Amino acid sequence: MKILVTGGAGFIGSALIRHIIDSTADSVVNLDKLTYAGNLESLAEVSDSERYTFEHVDICDRAELDRVFDEHQPDAVMHLAAESHVDRSIDGPTAFIETNIVGTYTLLEAARQYWQSLNNNGKTAFRFHHISTDEVYGDLEGPEDLFTESTPYAPSSPYSASKASSDHLVRAWQRTYGLPVLITNCSNNYGPYHFPEKLIPLIILNALEGKPLPIYGKGDQIRDWLYVEDHARALYKVVAEGQVGETYNIGGHNEKRNIEVVHTLCDLLDELRPVGANSFAQHLTSYKDLITHVQDRPGHDLRYAIDASKIQRDLGWTPEETFETGIRKTVEWYLNNTEWIEHIKSGAYQQWLEKNYNHRAATP
Ligand code: NAD
Repeated sequence: MKILVTGGAGFIGSALIRHIIDSTADSVVNLDKLTYAGNLESLAEVSDSERYTFEHVDICDRAELDRVFDEHQPDAVMHLAAESHVDRSIDGPTAFIETNIVGTYTLLEAARQYWQSLNNNGKTAFRFHHISTDEVYGDLEGPEDLFTESTPYAPSSPYSASKASSDHLVRAWQRTYGLPVLITNCSNNYGPYHFPEKLIPLIILNALEGKPLPIYGKGDQIRDWLYVEDHARALYKVVAEGQVGETYNIGGHNEKRNIEVVHTLCDLLDELRPVGANSFAQHLTSYKDLITHVQDRPGHDLRYAIDASKIQRDLGWTPEETFETGIRKTVEWYLNNTEWIEHIKSGAYQQWLEKNYNHRAATP
């Protein structure tokens, strides 16, 4: 397959592209606007592959999307491009409406026009895989409840409402126009190359700098954590083997309260980089001493947990990492990849991008 991946410079998109290039014979066209969350350095290990191409394009730009479909003739689209941070959506929802709703609509229309131009075999084989979140389902009530593929939508934040909208558009494009779509709704991801605004990398990086470790409220919010490389494997299975028109929930069977996650991170850091070794922290006995509780996010959902039995039963996917193995790998990765972190923080990867792509554009 030649797969058009949108948002491939982001956290999950880059894990997906590394997986496709490293573990399959398929080709990838990475289409990304490179917002603050897009980082081509996360693709450094695969970007020299002949099976990898980058297109610096906004999914709201229809003319550019038409050019990309025409030029690359993909067999499948895996759509991950999105604004993805709940706090940013509360602060300023506009970009979420534009990219997640209008952008998805624009991409659907470009994909539909391209799909209609294919011959019958091409039409039957084509896939539009929309990557979404379990946050569209809202909050879970009982401690034993799980989100299934038929749980009604009840999004709480501008982010999850915009993702829910995009899911509805994708389903409507199948029902109305016959576009062969697949949808996945996944729980919280964690792992290497995660932008430091999200909980797990934020805690690791703040701890290493002796900064406060901020916990919303009491830290009682429960999330079902999935290692990002397990998500990438699941996504590839769905696009390659999933049943057209189906939705698959993807989860890690790892429900943890936020405070438990932070304690685990502190324990691992205490083991791997003892706090007393830092010049800022000679008076501390554990990174836990840095934990600070802050005012909770408005409308914060208390519990998400996924029933992933359908994808296990129908496609044979189960996560390879437990929370304990995945979180240790993650902490070790952040300890060993200070250069990636420094570039993110200094914005140097933006300069690297210009340097790298300006001269490439001039090459015949
Ligand atoms: P991310 O914020 O790390 O990356 C998003 C990527 O999309 C970035 O590379 C960004 O440059 C690109 N992008 C943003 N707007 C664009 C536009 N208008 N045109 C083209 N590219 C654009 O996000 P992520 O965490 O990798 O999430 C990827 C997808 O998975 C999202 O759709 C998100 O809703 C979904 N998801 C995320 C999680 C999670 O835990 N992170 C869980 C479930 C589902």
